[in-house]
Amino acid sequence: MKITLGQFTRKSLAFAVILLTHTACIRSTGRPKNVILLIGDGMGVEQVKAAGMYANGEAGSLSFEDFPYQAQMTTHSASHQITDSAAGGTAIATGMKVNNETISIAIPGDKTELKTLLEYAQERGKSTGLVTTTTITHATPAAFGAHEISRYNEAAIAKDYLTQTRPEVLFGGVAEGMTPTTAKEAGYKVITDAPQMAAMDTESVTRVSGQFAEGHLPFEFDGLGSAPHLSEMTATALKILDNDPDGLFLMVEGGRIDHAGHQNNIERNVTETVEFAKAVQVAFDWAKGRKDTLIIVLSDHETGGLNVLENRGKGEFPQVSWSTPGHTADPVPVYGWGKNAHYIEGVIDNTEIFAIVTVTVE
Ligand SMILES: [Zn+2]
Repeated sequence: MKITLGQFTRKSLAFAVILLTHTACIRSTGRPKNVILLIGDGMGVEQVKAAGMYANGEAGSLSFEDFPYQAQMTTHSASHQITDSAAGGTAIATGMKVNNETISIAIPGDKTELKTLLEYAQERGKSTGLVTTTTITHATPAAFGAHEISRYNEAAIAKDYLTQTRPEVLFGGVAEGMTPTTAKEAGYKVITDAPQMAAMDTESVTRVSGQFAEGHLPFEFDGLGSAPHLSEMTATALKILDNDPDGLFLMVEGGRIDHAGHQNNIERNVTETVEFAKAVQVAFDWAKGRKDTLIIVLSDHETGGLNVLENRGKGEFPQVSWSTPGHTADPVPVYGWGKNAHYIEGVIDNTEIFAIVTVTVE
């Protein structure tokens, strides 16, 4: 058959269109549509080991320890070998090292606001949420939804949430600046306990402020009272955020693993970590079967210098030693599942998480 120039051109054009469409397709699916970041504050390798022994009788048994991609992560800040949660959270949220106590501002540097993963998601039309067991304005969630010179400016952090970044979901305890009045004035529905959260219509609600305690939520070990578990907050947040066809970004923090570490209290430390693992399971149950979702489980730093000495079996707290009431410079574990998770391998730095979430080149 004789191919005329016209036919040839049309064929080439069709081929080019197929190529272009295919390339566009690769580009549009090259980064995850949904991102769920779960941060165990102060959760090092030994904290994970101890919690697995208590929950299931053996190390390596928590929900996220089966994830296919795992790495060790360095955590130093711009100012200190041992980071705090502000600089640690900022490095994860923005890909930039800052001084301890800084919330997503270029210090050292020109003091400009550093774009966070939450803002990156919002620019792409996605719904966003912050969930924690600490005050919602505490350092780790703040690093994703605020820009402040000091982590201790909790009232200013609350104002950043309510008037600047406005995540659809804000679940945690409350401190200065985050009250039913300020949240309602900013257009948020306010809920204050687990029954109210369970009764909420997650399909119609648009912006929710969960104000579940004055200060931090209680420790799991001490009983939560009317406050919801981290896993329940995670499930509710996902039901709300997944109404958005453009996708979601959710940061979930097991924030009091760190506090129990500062106290060198293994009972509280283990039970907080076990509940954190339940929250990961909730996220995984939501994501499994999807090809467009990235889950990263990680920590901002280790707290307490924990060392597990002896497994005492399921339901028993292992025998341990602690070396400090503060943070350590130990590398922390990272676990990844889903889209882009294959970049999590070997030894990475906390500033690489931003790129792993946002990279588009396969
Ligand atoms: Zn701490």
